[in-house]
Amino acid sequence: MEYDIAIVGGGPAGLTTGIYAARSKLTAIIFDSGASQIAEALTIENYPGFKHVSGEELLAKMRKQAELAGVKIADELIIDILKDTDYTLLSTSGKNYTAKSIILAMGATHNAGIKGEVDFIGRGVSYCAICDGIFFRDRVVAVIGGGNTAIEEAIFLAQHAKKVYLICKNLNADPALQDKAIENPKIEISLDKRVVEITGDKMVGGITMMDYKNRERMNLSLDGVFITTSIPVNQLAKKLGLETGNGGYLITDHQQKTNIKGIFSAGDITGGLKQVVVACSEGAIAAMAAYDYIKG
Ligand SMILES: Cc1cc2nc3c(=O)[nH]c(=O)nc-3n(C[C@H](O)[C@H](O)[C@H](O)COP(=O)(O)OP(=O)(O)OC[C@H]3O[C@@H](n4cnc5c(N)ncnc54)[C@H](O)[C@@H]3O)c2cc1C
Repeated sequence: MEYDIAIVGGGPAGLTTGIYAARSKLTAIIFDSGASQIAEALTIENYPGFKHVSGEELLAKMRKQAELAGVKIADELIIDILKDTDYTLLSTSGKNYTAKSIILAMGATHNAGIKGEVDFIGRGVSYCAICDGIFFRDRVVAVIGGGNTAIEEAIFLAQHAKKVYLICKNLNADPALQDKAIENPKIEISLDKRVVEITGDKMVGGITMMDYKNRERMNLSLDGVFITTSIPVNQLAKKLGLETGNGGYLITDHQQKTNIKGIFSAGDITGGLKQVVVACSEGAIAAMAAYDYIKG
């Protein structure tokens, strides 16, 4: 069977695309390899309609809604997409699928590979200041990174936290943003440093840093660590020849169209504000744009 829409990625973006596609009477299939970032969120408090919800629960509800709407969900990893008149998707299951249009919603990965990082996710290690900053009121935290996102997060966190360390090799954010961080009395910038370990008991208690110049190690007591690394899962997109911008994020227009006709993209893989509500919104827009494309 040929589907109208094949969606690669079953996180909030892909599932919302599926719901909108099915409600527009399009045949849709979602492929998912089961690594949605939302599942790592212990509590989500900024998704409208839910005061507190765990990421896992919200994801399960979205998935159920997509299935009830009539979307087929295949727990399979897509390894290649071939373009002819339509598209053929190759899965690790050995099966091939064809579709008239494609939505790429493969998300991003945040893991910085620091020793102890994974052990403390949700217990002091966070990847999102906007989501979790409020839990660190009057606490001491560190932001790892020296780019725009890191500095924006440090400035945001300084509104809640008692002290914010910004730890990086060097600052490479916009100069105006750097000045804001330098001028903020709550932010202390620590250059030429690499975080080698996150330590603690039940919760984060501190970090061990190494100096790039003299390789000396030093410990810092902390209540929270914010990691700003974010790498888009763009390998399939690159193979297809899709345009990427800063940091490898896919470039789309206001209808989530990529530079290749019939291919749309939504969610964290397109960069911008990486939040569930944004991923859902882009997924809805992508579904409607794909509808217009299919119906000509
Ligand atoms: C710890 C943590 C806490 C967070 N807290 C919040 C919060 O409180 N509020 C908030 O709004 N946001 C929060 N976020 C951000 C939020 O989770 C993301 O913005 C959101 O999940 C992005 O959705 P997405 O669909 O674009 O990508 P994802 O959720 O990452 O989903 C992408 C999916 O694509 C699949 N995939 C990738 N490649 C393939 C392939 N080749 N074939 C098949 N499947 C594939 C992956 O397995 C994954 O399931 C948090 C993120 C983290 C990591």
